[in-house]
Amino acid sequence: MARIVQKYGGTSVGDVERIRKVAARVARWREEGHEVVVVVSARGGVTNELLARAKALNPQPNEREMDLLLAVGEQETIALVAMALHALGVPAVSRTGAQAGILTDPDHTRARILRISGGDIGDALSRGEVVIVAGFQGANLDGQTTTLGRGGSDLSAIALAAALEADVCQIYTDVDGVYTADPRIVPDAKKIDAIGYEEMLELASSGSRVMQTRAVRFAQKYGVPFEVRSSFNDEPGTMVQEEVVSMEDVAVSGVALDRNQVKIVVSDIPDRPGTAARLFEALAADGVLVDMIVQNLGREGRANLTFTVPQEDAYRAEKAVRPLQDDFPDMRVDTYDRIAKLSVVGVGMRSHSGVAGRFFGALAAERINVQMISTSEIKISVVVAAEEADEAVRTVHRAFGLGGEPGAGAGTASEAAAGEPEPPQA
Ligand code: ADP
Ligand code: ASP
Ligand code: MG
Repeated sequence: MARIVQKYGGTSVGDVERIRKVAARVARWREEGHEVVVVVSARGGVTNELLARAKALNPQPNEREMDLLLAVGEQETIALVAMALHALGVPAVSRTGAQAGILTDPDHTRARILRISGGDIGDALSRGEVVIVAGFQGANLDGQTTTLGRGGSDLSAIALAAALEADVCQIYTDVDGVYTADPRIVPDAKKIDAIGYEEMLELASSGSRVMQTRAVRFAQKYGVPFEVRSSFNDEPGTMVQEEVVSMEDVAVSGVALDRNQVKIVVSDIPDRPGTAARLFEALAADGVLVDMIVQNLGREGRANLTFTVPQEDAYRAEKAVRPLQDDFPDMRVDTYDRIAKLSVVGVGMRSHSGVAGRFFGALAAERINVQMISTSEIKISVVVAAEEADEAVRTVHRAFGLGGEPGAGAGTASEAAAGEPEPPQA
C-alpha cells in the first residue's frame, strides 16, 4: 500500500465527462489498496474568466477580494469530484485549502506556503476515504483566503505530498509528460522519460508551463520526486527527481518559450557609476521581477538599459522608473510587448562546447533576429520578435536534433538512479 497524491489540472476536470473519468481513475488506485489524496484545479478557463470579470468591473481589483473570487474555481471542482466518487460508491470528502491546513503568508495573489498541518486528512485516509483538496489556495494566519500564483495547484500537490509523507506524487495533465519542447508548437517533440530537478526548474522558469516553477523549486528543496503524466491514458509519464544519469551524451535537453514578457528600453541615461543601481533599486522597491538585462552605450556619454519583466509587472515597472526623470531629464522609456523569450536548457552544456555557436547559427540561417541574449551555466536565452517565436523554437529544436525518431536525440535514462528522498518537512 502506498500513499499517493494525484493532481488533476484544468483540462483534466474540464467537464462532467472528464470529472467522471478522473473519479474512475482515482477509484482504481484506491481499489488497489492505496491511500489517495486528490488535488484539483479549476475547470480549464474558469480562473481566466473570473479574472476577466474582476478586471471589467475594476482595473485594479483589491487583492483580498481577488483571492476570494479566484478560489471559487477550485471549490467547484472538489465538490464535483467528491460527488462523482460517491456515485461510484467510493467514500470521499472534499477540503478547501484552509480546511487542509495550508497556511500561507498574507501576500494575496502570490502567497507563499508557510506550513501544512493537513487538517484531518490523515484521519479521513485511515477511515478509507479519498480526500479531495482544492489546489491553488490556502489561508493566512488571519484565516483569509489566499492564492499561490497562476498554476499554483502544482505547488499545492507537491507541498501536500511532502507534508503527508506521500510515497508518490503524480501530476496528471493533458500531455503525456514533459517534452523536449511544447508539443503544441513542435509536433515532433519527444517525451523525456526522466529529468533532474535542475533542468526541470530551468524549463519551467523559461516558460514551459507544464509545471509551475515554484512547485518544482519546492519539490527540489524537500526532495519530492514526482511524475508528470496524462489523464487521458495509462502510459508512463516523465519522472522528475534528483539529477538523472544521461543515457546519451547530450548538450541540450529541451527548448522553452515564454510569451509572457515585455521588453522595456530606458534610453539616454548618464553613463556613470550608480545609474543602473538607481534604476534597478527603484524596480526592486516596487517588487518588479527583472529577468534579462542588456546595457549599451549611446551618444555623448549616455547609456541605454534594456530589460524584460513579466507582462503583469509592466505597468508597475514603468511607474517605478518614471520618477528617475527628475535626475535624468533626457531619459526615455519605451515598452515593447511583441516579443518572446526563447531558451535552450541542458545540464550537458557544462561539458559541451559549441552550443552557443549552433544555437545562433540556426537562428541566423532562418534570418531570425536576436534582440537580447543572456546565459547561465545550463541555459542560453534570447529575445526574438513574437511573430517569429514559434518558427524559432522549431528551428532550434531541429538544430539540436531533439525531435524525430525515439532515441535519436535528447532522451535521458529512464533507469536513472532515484536518490533517497529527503525527509519532508513542509
Ligand atoms: P494543467 O491544466 O494540467 O496544469 P497546463 O496547461 O498548465 O496543464 O500545462 C500543460 C501544457 O503545457 C501542455 O498542454 C503543453 O501545451 C504545455 N507545455 C509547454 N511546454 C511543454 C513541454 N516542454 N512539455 C510538455 N508540455 C508543455
Ligand atoms: N486555476 C489556477 C490557474 O488557472 C491554478 C491552477 O490551475 O493550477 O492558474
Ligand atoms: Mg498547470
